[in-house]
Amino acid sequence: MVINLMSSPGAGKTSLLEKTIQLLQGKLRVGVIEGDIQSTYDAERIEKTGAPAVQINTGGACHLDSNMVKTALKNLDLSSLDLLFIENVGNLVCPAEFSLGEDFKAMILSVAEGDDKPLKYPLMFHESSALLINKIDLLPFCDCNPALIEERALQINPRLSILRISCRSGEGLDSWVNWLEQKVRRQNPHPNLGG
Ligand code: MG
Ligand code: ZN
Repeated sequence: MVINLMSSPGAGKTSLLEKTIQLLQGKLRVGVIEGDIQSTYDAERIEKTGAPAVQINTGGACHLDSNMVKTALKNLDLSSLDLLFIENVGNLVCPAEFSLGEDFKAMILSVAEGDDKPLKYPLMFHESSALLINKIDLLPFCDCNPALIEERALQINPRLSILRISCRSGEGLDSWVNWLEQKVRRQNPHPNLGG
């Protein structure tokens, strides 16, 4: 199963992947394709978890496309994975316009970005199957109403699964991991776990 993970820069995509890989250890075998304009910093962070990671550098392009992913796939042993994440370039706009061959798109919005974002960037909310509202540990310090994010996002996409999480405190990550495991098992009832 392949998930295209999208958000603006700094919302917590790589942090979410680090935590997700830890929580799925021994349950699902996870690999990551890291998309960034420049640097191998995020792929190195993922490799420290023990999961295979391939870095794509777009050299300036503000989103991934399927040709970039096709090239990166040559460097991954897909037969040894149950779940592949593609971390898109940090950008709340055009990544939502491109299919990477994923099964699902998922997005992160951090509370520090504000509850107006579904109104301003509706396409990503429309295209995503899951919305993770991250950094909820920062709510006391932000003028952000997460209920308003949920209401506005559901107006755009009534089928959206919405989870409130904090990668920092770990809150809500069990629900996210359950969501992932359900999706993987629905697609492949007998994954070769840990194989
Ligand atoms: Mg990142
Ligand atoms: Zn772009």
